[in-house]
Amino acid sequence: MNQRRSIVRELEGSRHLSAEEIYDQVKGGYPELGLSTVYRTLDLLHELGIVRKEDFGEGYSRYELATERMHHHARCRECGTVIEFNEELMEYLALQVERETGFVTDWHEITLHGRCKECSS
Ligand SMILES: [Zn+2]
Ligand SMILES: [Zn+2]
Repeated sequence: MNQRRSIVRELEGSRHLSAEEIYDQVKGGYPELGLSTVYRTLDLLHELGIVRKEDFGEGYSRYELATERMHHHARCRECGTVIEFNEELMEYLALQVERETGFVTDWHEITLHGRCKECSS
């Protein structure tokens, strides 16, 4: 239970953490904690709707609290920086798709891949 709370606390401090990053932060306080426990706890928190699981195409997931305002991500493939952008453009896009195809979107999750301002200049 305390372990669970400390994992949530890490996610309150920063967003888009991987399980290994959380593990590195938390293990100091819980030497008996294993990486597999962190994964299991994150899966549980995800099932409970407490954390969002994100795939930025790195081969592993990143996590953030589900209480964050809905937003989307753009990830720099050179330095790994994750930029957040808001929902409205995507709402507009979903509406256009519905108008053209009749498809009604109830969930969208978008990650743009490219290079950030620093890396592209
Ligand atoms: Zn970059
Ligand atoms: Zn985010």
